[in-house]
Amino acid sequence: MRGMEMEGSEDCVLCKVIGGELKSWKIYEDDFAMGILDVNPCTEGHCLVVPKKHVIRFYEMEDEELSRLFRAVKIVAKKIKKALNPDFVCIFIRGGRISHLHVAVFPSMKNDSLSGFPQSSFEKVTVDLDEVAERIRNA
Ligand SMILES: [Zn+2]
Repeated sequence: MRGMEMEGSEDCVLCKVIGGELKSWKIYEDDFAMGILDVNPCTEGHCLVVPKKHVIRFYEMEDEELSRLFRAVKIVAKKIKKALNPDFVCIFIRGGRISHLHVAVFPSMKNDSLSGFPQSSFEKVTVDLDEVAERIRNA
């Protein structure tokens, strides 16, 4: 356990949502995860799926926990598809700005600004693909 990061859980806005201290627009819940509307949506139907326990990085979760989280993500994605009928339902896994792992799940239409993300939001960079592939492969 990383003391510094876990200390943040007391002030964590998503822990407060899960605990019912903050208002949320819940759309799904099971014993491991909760699906809510993002209060600052980038499009109608932009949801978040969050583990109920305070976790920051998805790759530090146990495989079994990830499986449970992504089961909830799939359920929410299918609900978005059924309710709003977008071309795609996309996900983006975060935990930086709000230090509680959250999977953003949002509807996307062909050629909308979400469908080009993240490349559409960043300057093009030149990367030595051989070199970086080697570094990551061998890490
Ligand atoms: Zn939290």
